[in-house]
Amino acid sequence: MVGWRCPKCGSADLDVRVSVWARLDQTFGALGADPKENEFSTLVDEGRCSDHEWDEGSPMSCRTCPYEGVAGDFALSSPPDGALAVAGRGIPEKE
Ligand SMILES: [Zn+2]
Repeated sequence: MVGWRCPKCGSADLDVRVSVWARLDQTFGALGADPKENEFSTLVDEGRCSDHEWDEGSPMSCRTCPYEGVAGDFALSSPPDGALAVAGRGIPEKE
């Protein structure tokens, strides 16, 4: 079974930081002008550019409790000791 749960509280309500390809949109000022006049932004919704990826080393955080770690810490395939024992205990008090 593949999945991720918080190793502290057992919640499956998680956030993960992903790396995403974005279109670099640049507007250059007049030739010879101050480079500070150049403008740029990133467009993540541009067709092929929106592919994103993450792996077991990506930062992951629980939305139920304050626990933060990397995705590998949350993987069900290798739960830390006691992870399932605390599942369903409810929302722990904020630290
Ligand atoms: Zn949690």
